[in-house]
Amino acid sequence: MTTGRAPILVLFRNDLRISDNRALSSAVDAGRPVVPLFILDDDQQSSRRLGAASRWWLHHSLLALSNALEKLGSRLLIRQGSTDEIVAETVKSTGADAVFWNRRYSPSDIAADTVLKSALRADGLKAESFDGFLLHEPSQLSTRSGDFYKVFTPFYNRLSETDARDPIDTPSRIMAWDGTLRTEKLGDLKLLPGKPDWSAGFADRWHPGEAGAKARLERFLEDCLDTYAEDRNVPGVEGTSGLSPHLARGEISPVQIMAALRRRRGKGADTYRKEIAWREFSYHLLFNRPKLHSENFRPDYDSFEWQSAPSALKAWQSGRTGYPIVDAGMRELWQTGWMHNRVRMITASFLVKDLLVDWRDGEGWFWDTLVDADPANNPASWQWVAGSGADAAPYFRIFNPILQGEKFDPEGAYVRRYVPELARLPNQYVHRPFEAPASLLAQCGVVLGENYPSPLVDHSAARERALKAYRRTRGS
Ligand SMILES: Cc1cc2nc3c(=O)[nH]c(=O)nc-3n(C[C@H](O)[C@H](O)[C@H](O)COP(=O)(O)OP(=O)(O)OC[C@H]3O[C@@H](n4cnc5c(N)ncnc54)[C@H](O)[C@@H]3O)c2cc1C
Repeated sequence: MTTGRAPILVLFRNDLRISDNRALSSAVDAGRPVVPLFILDDDQQSSRRLGAASRWWLHHSLLALSNALEKLGSRLLIRQGSTDEIVAETVKSTGADAVFWNRRYSPSDIAADTVLKSALRADGLKAESFDGFLLHEPSQLSTRSGDFYKVFTPFYNRLSETDARDPIDTPSRIMAWDGTLRTEKLGDLKLLPGKPDWSAGFADRWHPGEAGAKARLERFLEDCLDTYAEDRNVPGVEGTSGLSPHLARGEISPVQIMAALRRRRGKGADTYRKEIAWREFSYHLLFNRPKLHSENFRPDYDSFEWQSAPSALKAWQSGRTGYPIVDAGMRELWQTGWMHNRVRMITASFLVKDLLVDWRDGEGWFWDTLVDADPANNPASWQWVAGSGADAAPYFRIFNPILQGEKFDPEGAYVRRYVPELARLPNQYVHRPFEAPASLLAQCGVVLGENYPSPLVDHSAARERALKAYRRTRGS
């Protein structure tokens, strides 16, 4: 279906879906041809360059979106370069008189989009942005005194009072524009790893794209929601939704998730709604604190004496700290591009408290290696663990990696999966191999310091060191 009428340009960014996509549906509803355009703008000063794992995901997500658009009679244009220049060029070559997009929420992205909107309007075009990435616009939620929320519970109470909109219908057909336009091949974007290809384990676990997101949500609601409140803390069990990378690329909207939960009652559903609200809270913080990934939310942490410990950082990154639950988490991350939330907290605590390495180094590693790396959730969570964030865990709450492992992975199922060299140890020692008798270690094929490292630090001593560093920062 084509027509000679001026088309509407729809920019896709972190909203790689057809359903509940207000920018796309508004363009379709206008009864005009639609030109869907994705631009990889790596040089855009405003945005953080995507990490390697996110780029892997993006490649597959764009492929899925492109196929979905084709089924509706449309075609995704893929370009690489400056957003402002490519939009201007595409407007000129198509004769488009309107450009639509869904909003982004980091202040620097907002600034870039505001400039784009003004430039288009100055040229007499219609430029419109829509909501869709969050449940509510961060600017609409403020405390009674008009400030932004810094504590989660009142934020959550406020969020719960405000009904989210209903998801909108999926277009059944998209009118194509009947001209020819320059497009690049997906492969030209070079989003996939070269050599070595570290992504082999990713494809086994993930199905990027809208259909993959929907299937995950359905499976989660069917199999896991009722036990979510308990199972979400057990890394050896697949008890969480795994929707985070789909949400990061906007293959599913939080509005769709909340609508699917609407008639679900019980502790599992309530807990899940709260987790989605933590995502909103992170964006609320990012919206109000643009440098969330580079600056302490609480400035009293600016004088914290972080250690320069490149070899310890390397050991942590490669899952060779000698603490099994930490190593299992870091290896899960490397192998699959994802890590269980409980283990994210344990590994992050180990880095910033046991090793006294700056949280920004950990955040940067997660940013590069997580398929769900998120500009709000990642820094907000790191700052939460470090104690420098809003409503953060107090610094003196230092996770003991042995006790955490024993509590949340009592049979060692998770450790055995990702640290196979410890697989034969009995439960009693699987989280503390360094305490096992030499004869037992030999029987189980473990040679500490050879096929599995001895502990990088002694946790009790490291804990005391961290507390002293913290007290110095507080001046007490
Ligand atoms: C150090 C650290 C770094 C993190 N980095 C990221 C990140 O880059 N991207 C990211 O999406 N999440 C991050 N998280 C939060 C959380 O670990 C993940 O959202 C969660 O593990 C994703 O798995 P899931 O989709 O199965 O979660 P589920 O338990 O199924 O939760 C559903 C959704 O709720 C949201 N959510 C859940 N827990 C949190 C939380 N603690 N904070 C904010 N939102 C939450 C996510 O969008 C998640 O997809 C981080 C947590 C820590 C401790």
